[in-house]
Amino acid sequence: MPHRILRQQIAQPVLEICKELRNAGESAWIVGGCVRDMLRGEKVNDWDVATTALPKKVQDTFRRVIPTGIDHGTVTVLWKGESFEVTSLRGEGAYSDGRRPDNVVFVGNIEQDLARRDFTVNAIAYDPVDGQVVDPFDGLTDMRNRVLRAVGNPTARFREDGLRILRGARFVATLEFELEEETEAAFGSALDTFRKVSPERVREEWLKAMKASTPSRAFEVMRRTGILEVTYPELLEQVGCEQNQWHAYDVWNHTMRVLDESDGDPIERVAALLHDVAKPRTRAKSDKTNDWTFYHHEKVGADMADRWLRDYRFSNSERDLITGLIRHHLICYSSEWTDAAVRRFIKRVGADNVDPLLRLGTADALGKGRNVEAELAALKELRGRVEQAIEEGGALTTGDLAIGGNDVIPLLDGGAGPAVGQILRALLEKVIDDPSLNTRDKLMPLAEELAKQL
Ligand code: ATP
Ligand code: MG
Repeated sequence: MPHRILRQQIAQPVLEICKELRNAGESAWIVGGCVRDMLRGEKVNDWDVATTALPKKVQDTFRRVIPTGIDHGTVTVLWKGESFEVTSLRGEGAYSDGRRPDNVVFVGNIEQDLARRDFTVNAIAYDPVDGQVVDPFDGLTDMRNRVLRAVGNPTARFREDGLRILRGARFVATLEFELEEETEAAFGSALDTFRKVSPERVREEWLKAMKASTPSRAFEVMRRTGILEVTYPELLEQVGCEQNQWHAYDVWNHTMRVLDESDGDPIERVAALLHDVAKPRTRAKSDKTNDWTFYHHEKVGADMADRWLRDYRFSNSERDLITGLIRHHLICYSSEWTDAAVRRFIKRVGADNVDPLLRLGTADALGKGRNVEAELAALKELRGRVEQAIEEGGALTTGDLAIGGNDVIPLLDGGAGPAVGQILRALLEKVIDDPSLNTRDKLMPLAEELAKQL
């Protein structure tokens, strides 16, 4: 971590905007996440400028502006084809709803503005024109020591805005910092405020945490501080839930490993986090082996996840992908699978979902801590056979059949209707078993036969 800001790191337009504000007799700083990320030597995408100018003056200073959040003091400045948020220095009034301040108060100095921010490492300002750093809460020291510490009194700050503790858990993962002791101790007293945070915000923070290289860091904080109990109590049932001979870890620790091993996009990582959500509820001792079983945990888990994903406003396509991955995560491949079995697997999972599923399978195998090499080898073999099956171009969906609905409709007394799909699906089953049947001449008589049987 370089721990210093180099002028060259600052985007040229940001520097120019700050200079314009100076020429207008004001001061301007870059603040918050962008300063933190520059100090970490990370690329900055999202620049925030804070200025002594009031919103009206910001609007007058620049030719092209959009008064995006003017009530909160934020003006979007369009500068050489890009847009930048410029916010007037503000303190904050009382918080009575635990979500946003009752009113916005503009203040005259940068220190007051920094005092309303959540963590010390997010409360550093930098004047890019004269190179001065403003760091009233010793954020630079915390950066160096990799510590996440609340600005001011943590209990009071977290009670003002319940989102802060979740942001804190997220930063522990994305920054790979440790929570300062008093800061962590204050999480518990903010849980009631945290309950008021909207599901959309929770979803957003979870997905940001998933971009960390070790997202389990965030979820461990959520587990031990009570955040997870509020957001997803079912996941806590995994803690201490012992598994069977195939596993080295309890369900929670296994899940955390799978989460960290899974790489892919954040949505796939949500699937990794939830893949065994139903294990605690489906756990039963087998009479035969006297070991734990988890019958149908993949189906029960997909249903449990579906409800939660709806509550937390995941989109339909995100939900479909996640629940599909959970439903099919028990791959159970063996070399004895016939080629038809491989094709049936692709059809069941959906050709587009095979890759994410094999990625999840790999993470799952790595997270078991037992028999890992053998499982990875099996998955690798399956991947090769899937690629081969796809390359061969055989039918995997009804759309790949040599005949379509229009060929089937005339065979049915009732014409178009659900029977059409039924017949096409039955034909697909036959073609998956024997790809040589996929010609018009062979399928038409089979379709006629099926139509008669209806
Ligand atoms: P990221 O952009 O990675 O989500 P960030 O820290 O930049 O992280 P933003 O939401 O972009 O987060 O906010 C910019 C800055 O505003 C933060 O660095 C922090 O100083 C302040 N801030 C954001 N949210 C809060 C909050 N809930 N309470 C107090 N200060 C906040
Ligand atoms: Mg930001």
